[in-house]
Amino acid sequence: MEYAENILGTIGNTPLVKINKLTEELPCLVLAKYETFNPGNSVKDRMALKMIEDAEADGRLQPGGTIIEGTSGNTGMGLALAAIVKGYKCIFVLADKQSKEKCDILKAVGAEVVVCPTDVEPEDPRSYYSVSKRLAKETPNSWYVNQYDNPSNAKAHYESTGPEIWKQTDGKITHFVVGVGTGGTISGVGKYLKEQNPNIKIWGVDTYGSVFKKYHETGIFDEKEIYPYVTEGIGEDILPKNVDFSIIDGFTKVTDKDGAVYTQRLAKEEGMFLGNSAGSAIKGVLQLKEHFTKDDVVVVLFHDHGSRYIGKMFNDDWMRKQGYID
Ligand code: PMP
Repeated sequence: MEYAENILGTIGNTPLVKINKLTEELPCLVLAKYETFNPGNSVKDRMALKMIEDAEADGRLQPGGTIIEGTSGNTGMGLALAAIVKGYKCIFVLADKQSKEKCDILKAVGAEVVVCPTDVEPEDPRSYYSVSKRLAKETPNSWYVNQYDNPSNAKAHYESTGPEIWKQTDGKITHFVVGVGTGGTISGVGKYLKEQNPNIKIWGVDTYGSVFKKYHETGIFDEKEIYPYVTEGIGEDILPKNVDFSIIDGFTKVTDKDGAVYTQRLAKEEGMFLGNSAGSAIKGVLQLKEHFTKDDVVVVLFHDHGSRYIGKMFNDDWMRKQGYID
């Protein structure tokens, strides 16, 4: 018989899938690392499990403890699945711009959810950074995960996602393109791939309203770059410790509109029903066209599933209200 001991045994080993129509204008092969095949439907299952295992190993997380995190939903889902199997409680703090589906899904897997305003400074006591820290202080036997600065986040991708991509492409990958939020995915995968072949280019996809691209290019943390945006999962108004700028070759910024429109196009033209950041990532690949030649093998990572965006990118009324479609 062949079976997993529990649901956590199904994390990782996701497929690579060729993109066909949307990338017709590019000279090269474009392959998607298709992370929705993870049990929580996102790449975040990998780092959630790794962060918990590392915290158990050094005693930060104790039996019967409560896991507390500020999460846009996907990390929460990964943490919740692991918590169920391992016997922990979860409290998640979300920003109010996150889709209602994400919130409801976290409640469905037994987590307590606290919603905070998006448009306040990170230092503001109402921000989800501040609220999650406060809850961690007030809750006995709790562990504050802090995916932004927790090194186990990038390490998970260094140990699993990176090696999988290297093996699946038979070492032929030349470019890796991925949306950047906490930076765990790009930094872990990028470090592993560059160790195998330092010529592989690592590209980050950023949003308008986020600090990454400007910081990478100038070393300046420019507050003028920060303003509210719609795109979910990528871009930040802080510099998480998990972003290793030294392994990133460049960033491209994708607009909210393009991210949303390309999320719809991936579903309608490729049969790839994916989240908002996948739309931004594939548009980012197209924007980087000038860097690719015919023998290149470009891998783009798609973080999460379309079901979490039914009320937004997959709702034409919402798309019209935003002015994204006629
Ligand atoms: N896309 C989605 C949907 C996400 O939830 C995240 C995590 N914030 C990202 C992209 C960015 O991944 P990372 O945090 O590893 O940079």
